[in-house]
Order: sequence, then C-alpha cells, then structure tokens
Amino acid sequence: ERDWPRPDHCRVITIANQKGGVGKTTSSVNIAASLALHGARVLVVDLDPQGNASTALGIDHHAEIPSIYDVLIEDTPMEDIVVPSPEIPNLHCAPATLNLAGAEIELVSKVARESRLRRALDSYDIAKFDYVLIDCPPSLGLLTVNALVGADELLIPIQCEYYALEGLGQLIRTVDLVKAHLNPKLNVSTILLTMYDARTRLAAQVAEDVRAHFGEIVLNTVIPRSVRVSEAPSYGQSVITYDPGSSGALAYSEAASEIAHRGAGAAK
Ligand code: ADP
Ligand code: MG
Repeated sequence: ERDWPRPDHCRVITIANQKGGVGKTTSSVNIAASLALHGARVLVVDLDPQGNASTALGIDHHAEIPSIYDVLIEDTPMEDIVVPSPEIPNLHCAPATLNLAGAEIELVSKVARESRLRRALDSYDIAKFDYVLIDCPPSLGLLTVNALVGADELLIPIQCEYYALEGLGQLIRTVDLVKAHLNPKLNVSTILLTMYDARTRLAAQVAEDVRAHFGEIVLNTVIPRSVRVSEAPSYGQSVITYDPGSSGALAYSEAASEIAHRGAGAAK
C-alpha cells in the first residue's frame, strides 16, 4: 500500500551500536527515506561528527552551517538548524558538522550534560513529525548517551559477521543505566540484521544466534549486502531513491514497513 500507518505520537528512535561500520547510518537514512516516501513526516538527527547521515541525505554540512553542535553546546533552538531534504518531501535533517567531535569533551562540563538533546527536542515542536531517527557515532560516549536519553526506542543494527555479538552486552548495560537513572521510557524495540551475505553459512548462523537471543524484537527483514547500498551516499541519495528496485532498497523499505506496522509498543 502507498501509505503506512502513522503513530499517534512522534516516535523518537535512536539507532546505536558502538561498533563502527555496522550500518547505523545506512539504516537511519534508508529507513527514514522509506517512511517519508510512505506518508510519514520524518526528522533525521545526525549525531555523528562525521556527518555521514547528512551527506547521504544530500544535506550541506560544511563547518560554518548551524548544526546539532550549536543545539547541544550553544542552546541554539532546533528550528534554527533543521533543513529539508532536497529530494524527499516530509523528510528533514538536523545536520552534524566536524566540530561535533569536540562536543564529546565540551559536554562534560555542561549542566544536564546527558539530557541536552532531550531538552532541545522537548522545546521543539516534534509533534509535527511522526518519527525522529537519531544516528549515533560509534562509541558509548556522551553523544550516544544524549541520544539514549532523548529517545523512546532503541534500534540496534547488527552486522551479520563473526564478531557481531561482541560489545552488545556493554551496549545493553549502558541502556540499563540510562533507564535506571535518566530515561525510564527507553525501550530496546528493534534489532535489524544488516549486510547479510546469503552465500555464507556464517551469516545464517549469526542471524540464528541473534534471533535466539533477542526474539521478536529482531525484524523479520534482513538487509542483504548490496553494492547499490554503498554507492548511494556518494550521490547524496538514499538507496531508496538512487535505485528503488535494488535488493537493498526493497529490503530497507520492507524493514521500515515492519517498523511502521509493529508500532512503538510491539516489543513491550
Ligand atoms: P555505521 O554508521 O554503523 O558506521 P555505515 O552505515 O556507515 O555504518 O556502513 C558502513 C559501510 O558499509 C559504509 O561504507 C556503507 O556504505 C556500507 N554498507 C552499509 N550497509 C551496506 C549493505 N547492506 N551493503 C553494502 N554495503 C553496505
Ligand atoms: Mg555512521
């Protein structure tokens, strides 16, 4: 169907995993694009100093533009930094610039250092969005903690390879600490298996292990490894628009459909 069900309140979903290269940014961007193309109003918050989500959405993020750094460190309102996607209606981005790398240190001495993103979102009219997706850097530092405090849901992308489960215990412990002290609402709602190589026994084994361990929060859809997925960002595009018929685009669209149809409460 053309339009998927829209949530009755804005779902704020953090995409985190402290490992680099597991598909956090790719998943953020392509799930956001899929949701927007099926009628949802979506904001992507780029919380990685590399600004890869901004790049992939075709959003300018050179050093001088107002960015999420200004929101976290200078108390700039969100509305001053959010920009529309040049390509997809109903899709917006809060871009990240390289100075965000310094925020990890600068936040340490700030009041309510773990809750600055939450406060910025609270004083912003997020009700005008159906989804806010927060793309995290590959660490469990204060930026990721801000994302966990600011969200209702956590989506963990897991790459189907040998060390996939390594580090997940540490991520879950961080989530538990955040739940206990800073954000009791946080719910690990979704796990997405990424970069699946159907030719290897190992990928199938990893997928099986993850499903055995995490159960129904693992989406049925698995994202295959696909060259088109990795090419799209260099054109400032999601794979959904770059090559809509490719296996990667179809899989991300299916994963996004599952997220929309399951709703926020599915995993509780
Ligand atoms: P993270 O944000 O977790 O560091 P990325 O989303 O940037 O990870 O993905 C890491 C690299 O793998 C990127 O170069 C990306 O283009 C590539 N990649 C991600 N998903 C796929 C996929 N399904 N098929 C092929 N390449 C992928
Ligand atoms: Mg990334």
